[in-house]
Amino acid sequence: METVIGLEIHVQLTTRTKLFCACRADYFAAPPNTLTCPVCLGLPGALPVLNRCAVELALRIALALDAEVQPQSLFERKNYFYPDLPKGYQITHHAHPLALGGRFTFAVDGELHTVRLRQVHLEEDAGKLVHIPDGALVDLNRCGVPLVEIVTEPDFRSPKEARAFLMDLRTLLRHLGASTADMEKGALRCDANLSLTENGRTGTRSEIKNLNSFRAVERALAAAAALHRDLLARGEEIHQVTFGWDDQEERLVLQRTKEEAHDYRYFPDPDLVPLAIGPEWLEAVRAGMPELPRARAERWARAYGLPARDAEVLLVEPALADYYDEVAKSVPDPHDAAGWVLSELRQFWTGEEPPVPARDLALLIGRVQTGEISRASAKAVLEEAATSGKPIAEVLAGRDLSQIKGEQDLRRLAEEVLAAHPQAVADFGAGKVQALGFLVGQAMRKAGGRADAKKLTEILRALLAQG
Ligand code: ADP
Ligand code: ZN
Ligand code: MG
Repeated sequence: METVIGLEIHVQLTTRTKLFCACRADYFAAPPNTLTCPVCLGLPGALPVLNRCAVELALRIALALDAEVQPQSLFERKNYFYPDLPKGYQITHHAHPLALGGRFTFAVDGELHTVRLRQVHLEEDAGKLVHIPDGALVDLNRCGVPLVEIVTEPDFRSPKEARAFLMDLRTLLRHLGASTADMEKGALRCDANLSLTENGRTGTRSEIKNLNSFRAVERALAAAAALHRDLLARGEEIHQVTFGWDDQEERLVLQRTKEEAHDYRYFPDPDLVPLAIGPEWLEAVRAGMPELPRARAERWARAYGLPARDAEVLLVEPALADYYDEVAKSVPDPHDAAGWVLSELRQFWTGEEPPVPARDLALLIGRVQTGEISRASAKAVLEEAATSGKPIAEVLAGRDLSQIKGEQDLRRLAEEVLAAHPQAVADFGAGKVQALGFLVGQAMRKAGGRADAKKLTEILRALLAQG
């Protein structure tokens, strides 16, 4: 039995304004019902005007996904009633979407997979219902916020693959500057379809709506696969249904059966002309495309020998990736610099801006890589610079960090430490090799972290061997 999964993904674009009006689109922290106008409220006589910026971000997404942008696409009305949809219809590309086909290559445990895409299109979002104990409140700020929908072919073979795809898609969308792609904030949402294939026969599929975390996508799909397997094992029929996912209880919740499927009565929106995308416009968008994450990871691997796993973590936040590029340019060992950015710098990065400028970190790492100061001292310097906001050069100037490298000085240091810790010396003699680590640590401490750790260890080992 094979698991077959296809995804429909909604991406909220980072435009300043909504898809068809001038209301602000960044509704996330806004008080309810403060970002509305006659157009997005669907008042009679109000006319939509298409947001050019939304089209361009959607084109970036389509181009990055190798989808074929259509010379002409058509906005239609998808009619249905819901309290969060005052117009009574949603404007969306339908029969003639923005782009057809496409593919995306993503990594699953370091192995590359490619999923085929069906289409990429634009649509407007609906408002929100906020459920409270004795009813529901309506917030229409989200009405008309631009979304791009990406529909995949049923090419995934496991819940884990679907999750890995979404994570790499998030990275791509961020690098395109198209979306924050934060699942927790609803900027990236996913509906998942799953069926089981037995002896080459495609089974009936289930749909799971509105998954809003990577974990939920994987768990909900695993639950659906288990449910299908269970039904098949018992010889029962699988009906085509739509589920929701209860994150708390970790279980599928039946939402509707096929009989309840909507007929949306799509028809072209008479207030909007077809969207024509000529070659010049498309080329201009293509020319403005940033370097894509996969290309960047390959460049880092080629130029710096950076492993894919490090690249992946750096790329999740484009600002971190840009920062690394800055640092890597001006240090002797760019591969080693990745470790500094990921494990040292990143822990201090809490706001929008980096905790220390890239050229400052490069200066510091450079000193370590040329052997002028020890790793331990550099970490202390970084911490002080990051927490005080002082430039690295100033912190460096305020400390004596010259490394203790001389044979004589190191030997004296080692002898002092051995004399002070007879028990550890005895332990080492009795075969407890960890005692060496302890002694190195003591010596480093005594030297204020400034000793050359490698040479110091050699000397200690030699002295211990002499007994
Ligand atoms: P609908 O018309 O109901 O929206 P589509 O044919 O457009 O259905 O497909 C919607 C999504 O379902 C797509 O992402 C597609 O990959 C997926 N899908 C289609 N058939 C299957 C299947 N047998 N198993 C799993 N997913 C499927
Ligand atoms: Zn509006
Ligand atoms: Mg569909």
